[in-house]
Amino acid sequence: MKLTEKVHLVGGSGYGLSPQGDCNIYLVNGGDELALIDTGGGFGVKDILGNVKADGFDPKKITKVLITHCHFDHIGGNYDLKNELGCNIISHDSDKTPIETLDELSLYTMAQERGLEFKATKVDATVKEGDKVQVGDVSLNVVHNPGHTPGCISFLLDEDDGKRGLLCGDIAGPSGNLGYINGPGFNLDDWKMSIKKLVDLSPDRLYPGHNTFILNNAKEHLELYDQKMNAAWTTIITSVG
Ligand SMILES: [Zn+2]
Repeated sequence: MKLTEKVHLVGGSGYGLSPQGDCNIYLVNGGDELALIDTGGGFGVKDILGNVKADGFDPKKITKVLITHCHFDHIGGNYDLKNELGCNIISHDSDKTPIETLDELSLYTMAQERGLEFKATKVDATVKEGDKVQVGDVSLNVVHNPGHTPGCISFLLDEDDGKRGLLCGDIAGPSGNLGYINGPGFNLDDWKMSIKKLVDLSPDRLYPGHNTFILNNAKEHLELYDQKMNAAWTTIITSVG
C-alpha cells in the first residue's frame, strides 16, 4: 500500500496485510534499490513479498532489511527473506545477539506461546547513531533511541515533497498510546530521553511498528507521547494498550 513516494506499507497484521503476529512492515523505495523495515513474526514473508509485487516492485531489488529492534514480531521473517533474496540484515549492535540467538530480549518464548515459530539468522552489519544507510537514491539517517530495548533504532528520511519521515519501530506511536513497556531490556529513563530526542527531530510523518502511521504533524503525536511518558503513573503501570 503506497503511503508516500518513498514509503509503502507491505505487511502488518493490524492492517490485514499479513498474518497475525506481524508488526507493520515498510518498504523504502530507493528506485534501483529497495529496503524493508522489519520482517514480522515469521509467517508473513509470502504475503509481504506478494504485497511488494502488487505495489509494482521487484522483490529482487530488496538488498537490505533494517531491523528497528530485536522483538520477535519484528525479526521473524529474517531467515526466510535472507534465504530467498540474499539481502543483508542490519541492526544496532546492542540488539544483535538477541536477533541471532533468540534470547530473552527477543521475547521468543512469547512468540511460541502465540503459536509462532521461526529460525534466527546472522546480522550482516550493525549501525549506530549518526550513520547513514543508503538505499538507492534514499538516504536514511540512523537514530539510536533505546528504552523499549537497548538497541532500538529509527530511520529518518527526507521525502520527495519536503516532509520529514521517521520509521520508528516500537519506541513511539500515534496519539501517545504507550506500547509494551516492561519487558526484558526495558529502561524507562532511556525511553523518556529517546522520546525527547525524537521530538527534537521534528518529523512530519511517523511510521510506527504498530497501529496507524501519521502523515502530517507527527511532532504533536510525539509531544503527547512525551507527556504520557512523564506522567506520574507511568512508573507503576505494566502495560497500556
Ligand atoms: Zn517491540
